[in-house]
Amino acid sequence: MSNSTSVLTELLQILSHWRPQMYFKASLTALSHAMEDQVLAGHGSPLVIASFQRERFYRQEAQRYRRIAQKTDQVYVLAAPETDFKNSSEVYETIAFKPTDSLAQEWHLIVIAQDYASCLVCQERVGINSESEDSSNSANSAMDSNRRFEGIWTFDRQVSQQAADILLKRILAYRPELKAKIKKARQEYLPSTALSKGVVNLQNNQLNNLTWDCPNKHPDPFVQRLVSYLQAGQYKLLKANRSLASKEHKERLINSVTTAIRLSLDPEEILHLAVQKLGEGLGVCRCLVYRCRETDTTARIQHEFLNAGIASIKGESWPLRNNPLFQEVVELQDALMIEDANNDPRIFNRTTSDSDSKSLQSLVTKCSILSWLLVPILYRGRLLGMLELHHCGPDPVAWKDEDVALVNAIATQIGVALIQAEAYANLQDLNEQLEALDRTRSNLVAITGHELRTPLSTIQVCLESLATEPDMSPELRQVMLNTALQDAERMRKLVQDFLTLSQLESGRVEWHPEPLDLAECVELSLSNVKARNRDSNLPNIKNLVTSELPLIQADGEWLVEVLAKLLDNACKFTSPQGRVTIEVSSTHPASLEVTVADTGRGIEPNRLETVFDRFYQEEGALRRSTGGTGLGLAICRQIVQGWGGEIWAESDGKDLGSQFHFTVPIFLDTIPHKKNKKTSSAKTTKTKKTTRRRSSK
Ligand code: ADP
Repeated sequence: MSNSTSVLTELLQILSHWRPQMYFKASLTALSHAMEDQVLAGHGSPLVIASFQRERFYRQEAQRYRRIAQKTDQVYVLAAPETDFKNSSEVYETIAFKPTDSLAQEWHLIVIAQDYASCLVCQERVGINSESEDSSNSANSAMDSNRRFEGIWTFDRQVSQQAADILLKRILAYRPELKAKIKKARQEYLPSTALSKGVVNLQNNQLNNLTWDCPNKHPDPFVQRLVSYLQAGQYKLLKANRSLASKEHKERLINSVTTAIRLSLDPEEILHLAVQKLGEGLGVCRCLVYRCRETDTTARIQHEFLNAGIASIKGESWPLRNNPLFQEVVELQDALMIEDANNDPRIFNRTTSDSDSKSLQSLVTKCSILSWLLVPILYRGRLLGMLELHHCGPDPVAWKDEDVALVNAIATQIGVALIQAEAYANLQDLNEQLEALDRTRSNLVAITGHELRTPLSTIQVCLESLATEPDMSPELRQVMLNTALQDAERMRKLVQDFLTLSQLESGRVEWHPEPLDLAECVELSLSNVKARNRDSNLPNIKNLVTSELPLIQADGEWLVEVLAKLLDNACKFTSPQGRVTIEVSSTHPASLEVTVADTGRGIEPNRLETVFDRFYQEEGALRRSTGGTGLGLAICRQIVQGWGGEIWAESDGKDLGSQFHFTVPIFLDTIPHKKNKKTSSAKTTKTKKTTRRRSSK
């Protein structure tokens, strides 16, 4: 029984020149109520046919129709049943049509009285409201009033009669038992002459200029204006609702991105979540995020969101330095929008054929980018990364200001999240360092206490003996005094070295790097060593450092300190018959390698790293004949690491001599001129790679 042709379509086929208008639901409700009120207020018994889409809409008006039924026995109400609506003739005629009937999409009200007629025949525009439905589930009532209908509303008697005719046929099909009643209605309200096609073939522009058969009862311009006013109000409401919905959508997206990225302190996870949420939220073809700095040449694409059918570019290298778009964003510190990449002069500049623009063009083609949005991720003006949105066609898309603002807001959130994650990682590092420092400090206190107590005990014994033994021979008295003085000096050195080491380890040292001539520094440290050991029998010292070396970049005072300590040790642990050599090689383009080698007592392979520990002395402080604090090499390691160099020891073992190596950076300006230049002694260095040990913290 259901009918698939809509009443509106059928009517418009007859009224071939009429064009339907758009009505909001609120306007139709107001019009329907006005038409019903006219029936209730008027005289006579009109024909009233009302078709509701569903039972629930009829329920809201049932009371009115009971009152209308008291005025006339020709009332027909149609609806698709939902609970107990059915065919009935109880108060008035009710017709339950099938939910699949096209009537379920329509809204009709036809009133035909003796002295006036009006009709409203509309069909719901499905799908047009989906935008607001999607974005504002919470605002059901607003959504409902935004429902839109298309159709005809008129006071024209002939059009009303035509509409009544179509609906009466539908009613008869559902309820054939009403044949006699419908026939009576036709005779009374639809005289056959009125239904000839030609009579109602009105022009569309006549809609607002109808000829009324009874001027006193028909709408005047005031009514027309009222309808226009209603429509305009509804339109404004719809616009406001749309803007609210878009605002809500934006807030929801920002919230969901912010919530997701706040759950993590891992930068990679933050970027992954952000790109997924943003890509889904905006429905773009491709969304990329990568970390970069202003000066980077390229970036690797590590996180992307892709829509179905879009090619992945994850893992690809993305040009930055030679990319005019990236450079523009860096300069502007703001988003860059490209609507149509194929017609953008920055990309397809026909006059240039340089390799940069060619590579950008091939990138655009390869990734099928048509519309492009680049948004920088900044934190206090520092570039941390880039968000990119791509539309890959078929048509270009103009980026909306609100979308760009949204991506900007999300980029700000990502920036904050990245900085927080960075700060957290630094904090963790710092905590670990602090814990290590605390452990070191406890060890140090224990070791220092022991190292200081030893000479102090000796001094105390000597002084006590001197004080309590007046009969002591002058020779023994002298020995006692000398021993006390030696240990006092040892304590002074120990305290001095200890302070230097703590200063270096705590990072409280101010470095003054400057371009230096390494040969001069070696000369200076050699003369210091010789002056200190004026009375000792030193081994033969050979200085093989030439003056043709590139300048180095280091703090002169500390460099001399390292050289002197290594030379001191070499002399200390080598017999006067042995030899000490100092030489320099340039095996690396950015640094020189200094080697202090001796033919002395050597170091066991398993001690090559331990010698750099604090207070390490092979024979222990008490048994040693050479003096020293055990802090010299630890100090050297701190100094060398201070300028970013390395220090390590090599030896073939006991009594086979030792070599101490360290690196020092070349002064940058001199690199091109003297690059890879070797000194005359370079061939003798690094011969024992297999036993080489690098120092570590
Ligand atoms: P010290 O003041 O005892 O020399 P260092 O830190 O300078 O303290 O050296 C630590 C230890 O490393 C020395 O005591 C010694 O055992 C070993 N050492 C350092 N230089 C040499 C060397 N050239 N030959 C052999 N052993 C060395």
